[in-house]
Amino acid sequence: MGSCFCGAEGVVFLHYSSKHLCEQHFIRMFDKRFRKTVRMGKMLRKGDKVAVGLSGGKDSTVLLHSLAELKKDLPFELIAITIDEGIAGYRARTMKPAKSECEKLGVEQHVFSFKELCGKTLDDIMKKDDGIPCSHCGVLRRYALNKAARELKMDKLALGHNLDDMAQTVMMNIMRSEPSRLARLNEPLTKSSRLVPRIRPLMMAPEKEIAIYAMMKGMPIERVECPYARYAFRGHVRKMLNETEERYPGTKFKIVSSFLEIEDALRGKYSKGAAISECSSCGEPCSKGVCMFCQLQKS
Ligand code: SF4
Ligand code: ZN
Repeated sequence: MGSCFCGAEGVVFLHYSSKHLCEQHFIRMFDKRFRKTVRMGKMLRKGDKVAVGLSGGKDSTVLLHSLAELKKDLPFELIAITIDEGIAGYRARTMKPAKSECEKLGVEQHVFSFKELCGKTLDDIMKKDDGIPCSHCGVLRRYALNKAARELKMDKLALGHNLDDMAQTVMMNIMRSEPSRLARLNEPLTKSSRLVPRIRPLMMAPEKEIAIYAMMKGMPIERVECPYARYAFRGHVRKMLNETEERYPGTKFKIVSSFLEIEDALRGKYSKGAAISECSSCGEPCSKGVCMFCQLQKS
């Protein structure tokens, strides 16, 4: 390992910028980038009521800490919402550190479950359904988080999506030929009556760096993988992008930056498909007709 620009021994090597950084400068770079992302995306305003979607994994735990830190300079209200999908052997293990981190930071935590929402856990659903678990899970979690944030009268819902997640989602939408979904990925922060605007302050932070940051800061992260993760199309895209990043460092940044450059044009082109209306069955936000949650309930 080479030296950091300050002369200290480097502990992290950033391939995409060919830089070695010591612990202190890595943390400083990470915090600076976090604040820049929030500032450039105009994600937060003084006095906002912000709910973090907190699973207890590394991304949302780092997000909670970084927002709690930012709150010291830009006063806003911060709470956490945790969704228990009902995945045996998995979620219970991340719920514990989520609770303890909220207690440590003095953040109020609200827990909701799929079971309360639709009478079934994800495990129950998957016993009777041979569909893709992550598709069901994603629909139910988005629905649950938005409903909870709205009922708690929050102005923003902060999600722990990192650079890898964003690059994967952009590529998945392209590979599935779903440009109108891509247009909705990073929707503007205008508040509709039903949809709480979502912000992604970690969208420029690579997953690996979040893991290193969490470790350096001594956060209690459970290294447990969801048993359903292997079924996801996302898993294939992740592998492909990781291999490409290995050969061509900076690829993930380029994918996400390119998307941010063209998102306004995309939104303009697909504005009709991207408009949010209400589900004709439950009234929750939905692009058209009956929402995915209600369709799942009926299937
Ligand atoms: Fe849900 Fe899939 Fe994530 Fe597991 S890996 S928590 S099933 S979205
Ligand atoms: Zn509905």
